[in-house]
Amino acid sequence: MDWDTDSRLAGPIGKKAADVLAPLGLETVGDLLRHYPRRYVDRGRLTDIAGLVPGEHATVVAQVEKATLRDMRRRNGQMLQVVIRDEKGGQLDCTFFSPHKVRRFIHPGVRAVFSGKVGTFNKRPQLTHPQFEALDETDSLRPFLSVYPSSSKITSQEIARSVRLALEQIDDPTDPLPEALRQRERLPELGRALRRIHVPESEADIHAARTRLVWDEALGVQLALALRRHDALARPAPACPSTGGGLLAAFDADLPFPLTEGQEAVGAEIAADLAREHPMNRLVQGDVGAGKTIVALRAMLQVLDAGKQAAMLAPTEVLAAQHARSLRGMLGALGRAGELDAAGNATSITLLTGSMGAKVKRQALLDAQSGAAGIVVGTHALIQDTVGFADLGLVVVDEQHRFGVEQRDALRARGATAPHMLVMTATPIPRTVAMTVYGDLAVSELKGLPRGRSPVATTVVPLAEHPGWIERVWQRIREEVERGHQCYVVCPRVGGTEKDEPELEEPPKDDDAGDDRRPPLAVLDIAPMIDEKLAGLRVGILHGKLPSEEKDAVMRAFERAELDVLVATTVIEVGVDVPNATGIVLLDADRFGLSQLHQLRGRVGRGSAAGLCLLVTEMPAATAARERLDAVASTTDGFELARLDLELRREGDVLGSSQSGSRSGLKLLSLLRHGDVIAKSQVYARDLVESDPDLHEHPRLRDLVGETLGDEERAAYLDKA
Ligand code: ADP
Ligand code: MG
Repeated sequence: MDWDTDSRLAGPIGKKAADVLAPLGLETVGDLLRHYPRRYVDRGRLTDIAGLVPGEHATVVAQVEKATLRDMRRRNGQMLQVVIRDEKGGQLDCTFFSPHKVRRFIHPGVRAVFSGKVGTFNKRPQLTHPQFEALDETDSLRPFLSVYPSSSKITSQEIARSVRLALEQIDDPTDPLPEALRQRERLPELGRALRRIHVPESEADIHAARTRLVWDEALGVQLALALRRHDALARPAPACPSTGGGLLAAFDADLPFPLTEGQEAVGAEIAADLAREHPMNRLVQGDVGAGKTIVALRAMLQVLDAGKQAAMLAPTEVLAAQHARSLRGMLGALGRAGELDAAGNATSITLLTGSMGAKVKRQALLDAQSGAAGIVVGTHALIQDTVGFADLGLVVVDEQHRFGVEQRDALRARGATAPHMLVMTATPIPRTVAMTVYGDLAVSELKGLPRGRSPVATTVVPLAEHPGWIERVWQRIREEVERGHQCYVVCPRVGGTEKDEPELEEPPKDDDAGDDRRPPLAVLDIAPMIDEKLAGLRVGILHGKLPSEEKDAVMRAFERAELDVLVATTVIEVGVDVPNATGIVLLDADRFGLSQLHQLRGRVGRGSAAGLCLLVTEMPAATAARERLDAVASTTDGFELARLDLELRREGDVLGSSQSGSRSGLKLLSLLRHGDVIAKSQVYARDLVESDPDLHEHPRLRDLVGETLGDEERAAYLDKA
């Protein structure tokens, strides 16, 4: 035939029909065929009008007998009163309140599917504003009606008609999936799957077609990641085998505690990776407080022992500064090169942040460039863009959830040899997300917490029901301080006059939250109130807008216990480690994302005393926001929370912009439901890329990669190949 999936729609279905579809972003036959039905109406499950039960949901097929426009008595405007009759003669009233929207489709003689909740009016059953789909002649023969995502300009049935026309006009497209794979997984051919997902004969048809099309999407993503991974691994990297002596050995000998089993195990994996001549690309995920910093430091020391430099990237200046301090603390004399009491083979740790004074910064840059700085700690942006290293062997990225795929690539692209890369995340990632979003990385799980950790008790403080409980919150803070401990009070915003940059991870939208909520509480706005409520305590304020010396000074004062309470924004979310802090109060807790709440809670319970986390909210019970808070209170298991988070979030948010753009081909793939297919397709993709690194012998699969990803990604991957 003349047309295939790449043809513009005007050819097979005519210009007029094609023009109507264009606003939906459907331009080619392939676009239209990948515009899958949202749901199906199973005609075997239709209800007869005579058998309708008020209060139940019903779907009926019936013909419009009468359609009358009436003025509404109590309100301005009109309504459309419709009488419909089914094949068995049963009659039913339907009422539509915005007649101008439906009049075009509903007039006597039209057959349609109507569905909605059955109500009663004047003792007769009726449907109020039911959903409806007009049917044409051929529809009556089909066991399933396909219902498409549509718009006010085009109905589902018009889309269905164009789809059927297009299907008649083309031959089955060539199948990108190799025959052997299809057979092994019992997947129908592409052409059959496309025909069946649009025009199914049975539920089994729908299921088989969907599974097949999900495979296309999963495999497309996994091939892209496998290509990326192969590309990264193929580069040369400086081999840094463990020397058995040097800084690492000296450090280990002086450790005040034994490493946990998890730290040993992950440490061994990393040590082996670093010894290779190809770059390590490893993600270490371990729950808050699992002890990732030491794992990273030991990796850096192995690299330093091989004569290379290491860089550590943190998402915020506060965290970068703290990392630099704690690395210096852990290394002791081993980290004081150039100072009088330094150990013989000592290295030095250089901090580099955007807001440092020009002179200090210049010196830091020089030290990185000359190699005088063994370890450079800084914020992502800065190290990426401005620092030249004498001989960079390892990049450690802390807190991956703030660090995107693109940035990872930017780092890799630095020089002729790629540095080893160690990515650490404290937000446990469900397996399917790890495979999809970080599928180009090897994953290590850092299991278990160091001994002597104390449990954190989490309580929701529901001010909607118990406004007086806020006083008890301040009281609890005083009690912690009286016992010699410290507390955090966290607000969603900084406040003040300027527009706030949101430091918040967007929580899932709450349908029940409404738009008219007051703005979230701000640190600067509540400071006077805190002064009053916590009078007599030493209170410090920390937020992203403070000059960095001031941030540093506040953080240091808190670390030295010169402050009792730190009122802060989410700048303290990641990494901040003050074991004497035992209480954390999250105000407007419902404004934070789930993993953010978990991170924040991880700031306490780090020492020997039990931790306390109070989630203060004004959201009423039984809202989605409260459910989220109850979830956080119900478990301290980060993995369980990550799974809940995935359920509460839209998937697009998880996949990130690069993989869920409007033009991307991910329509059916669900990280929740398709873990199995994702896992299998990852194995398949990696094997395939191993044997055919640029998919030379599988051009159709290369096309599939292109279809699955957005345009930009496509350019990035495929132009290389
Ligand atoms: P995270 O994994 O959240 O980044 P950190 O690396 O900040 O955790 O470690 C949290 C605390 O646990 C630090 O004070 C660190 O010194 C301590 N720690 C790390 N490993 C051990 C261990 N094996 N035994 C005891 N304490 C440890
Ligand atoms: Mg950390």
